[in-house]
Amino acid sequence: MNYRHAFHAGNACDVAKHALLVDLLQALRGKDKPFRVLDTHAGLGSYVLASAEAERTGEWRQGIGRVADITEGPLADYAAMVRAAGFPDIYPGSPDLARALLRPQDRLVLSELHPEDHATLRARYSRDRQVAVHLRDAWEAVEALTPFPERRGLVLIDPPFEKPGEFERCAAALARLRHRFRAAIIACWYPIKHRAPVRAFHTALQDAVVPDCVTAELLLREPTDPTRLNGCGLLVANAPHGFTERAEAILAALLPRLAGGEAGAGAAITRITPE
Ligand code: SAM
Repeated sequence: MNYRHAFHAGNACDVAKHALLVDLLQALRGKDKPFRVLDTHAGLGSYVLASAEAERTGEWRQGIGRVADITEGPLADYAAMVRAAGFPDIYPGSPDLARALLRPQDRLVLSELHPEDHATLRARYSRDRQVAVHLRDAWEAVEALTPFPERRGLVLIDPPFEKPGEFERCAAALARLRHRFRAAIIACWYPIKHRAPVRAFHTALQDAVVPDCVTAELLLREPTDPTRLNGCGLLVANAPHGFTERAEAILAALLPRLAGGEAGAGAAITRITPE
């Protein structure tokens, strides 16, 4: 396991994922009934932007560095959460964002396989009775820890895509989970380096007849150079009411800040499979 999210935390694609995630979590808070969140690839929970790793790439400056000052419109809540978490010193990852949106009746379950990152994550939430941290393989965790006792909630699948086969593993996990836990909202992040693997991922979901999948994609530039992270997508299954309209507004607000006017930049919400 070579991937360390500390190098990339707060970059443009992290920001797109987290802004959409906050919207999904806020929708879950719309009902009083308890919910649970499972973050299968949790990372560190929170990131120090002055760390050697973050400084080495400086990626956050072209990401959250261009968004954190927003106080109005569809990004206002997310940006406010980032500031409340301690930006510009700290950038909150998906576990910290989810934790901030839990009510007393809600739970957060985290799995992280990297031993050092897991240890950091475990220490971070060791006194928090609403959060459970597992040293566990994500693909095993998603089977073992679902469906939730609460019967509602969100599963975030966010692999590093550092080794071949991640798109296939995501498609298989989505198909299984959708079948076993119909009520769950499932969000699966993916990189867009070039188009072909993304098309194959969507086709796999269509072939497996995984119902009610939409994608929210942000392209920073035309995805012609597959050595670069040219954009990203969040595939959402069983999206809450109104998500597609809100996601469109979120991506439209992110685009001018994150894409820097490069050719081929854009955003799109696409239905991949019918409800
Ligand atoms: N979800 C985090 C966030 O948004 O703040 C970022 C996660 S990062 C993209 C992916 C994480 O998955 C890394 O911390 C990596 O160590 C971990 N990881 C990689 N393979 C894994 C596996 N099979 N099971 C669990 N975690 C894994």
